[in-house]
Amino acid sequence: MSGQREGQQRLAGLSALVTGGSRGIGLAIAQALTQAGCGVTIMGRHAASLDEAVRNGAAKHQISADVTDLDALAALMAGKQFDILVNNAGTAISAPFAKQDPAAFAAMTAQHLAAPAELSRLLLPAMLAKGFGRIINIGSTASVQGYQGVAAYVAAKHAILGLTRALALEVAKKGVTVNAVCPGFTATGLILESMADTARKTGQTPEEVLAKFVSKKPLGRLVEPAEVAFAVVMLADPLASAINGQGVVVDGGESIA
Ligand code: NDP
Repeated sequence: MSGQREGQQRLAGLSALVTGGSRGIGLAIAQALTQAGCGVTIMGRHAASLDEAVRNGAAKHQISADVTDLDALAALMAGKQFDILVNNAGTAISAPFAKQDPAAFAAMTAQHLAAPAELSRLLLPAMLAKGFGRIINIGSTASVQGYQGVAAYVAAKHAILGLTRALALEVAKKGVTVNAVCPGFTATGLILESMADTARKTGQTPEEVLAKFVSKKPLGRLVEPAEVAFAVVMLADPLASAINGQGVVVDGGESIA
């Protein structure tokens, strides 16, 4: 038992910023980092849901901000330092490529590439000065393979894996690692709402849509947010110091099937 307690506190004394920490995968990451002893700050656009997560003990502090507002990020991060940055915030937009609204295409890049890049740029100097830091970008299986109908999302998620690899090499000798965690289809509002939408359009129940969908996946079910969070906590660990520039895929084998 004492070994277990020790394991839970492996990140004691460290601080983390988790974007999109109010629900879904980000909330699970905040909870898991908090459980590991880390002082966690969550960021999102809606103060009420962030406050609720803090009240429930998932995090210590909250910052209300839209990650795509790069000027606001610079002001908010001035004078702040975090040992661990988890770039998780974001949504997915689907549309056939030829019908894609250019603004929607740009929004995907803004959320999944420009925002993580800017937060990394702002927080990296303090990590380098300390000689310790962990930047963990939430990619996707869409970082390593294509999917139809979501070209902008796939392009942006490939790009964040590219940034991960390039930045990892720049900081490799300085105690800072940069990795990505690439989940497969995970049970969050993002996926469950899209199932409900398909159900409405096809006259099936959401349960039927989900059952058909997961029956084609090696895992036979959706990934759980806590399973993604486990990979994040592993990469955040001081002992993960030689794991750098990786895209850790958490998809039950979907991308290798
Ligand atoms: P959710 O919709 O459940 O949660 C998204 C979180 O991000 C919320 O906290 C939301 O809060 C926040 N957020 C969204 N846009 C912004 C923004 N512009 N600025 C600040 N915060 C924002 O999504 P998931 O948990 O499913 O997804 C999280 C990440 O995981 C995303 O990067 C997604 O691409 C990735 N992913 C998800 C998969 C899945 O199957 N669910 C699979 C692979 C990757 P608020 O709305 O209040 O701002």
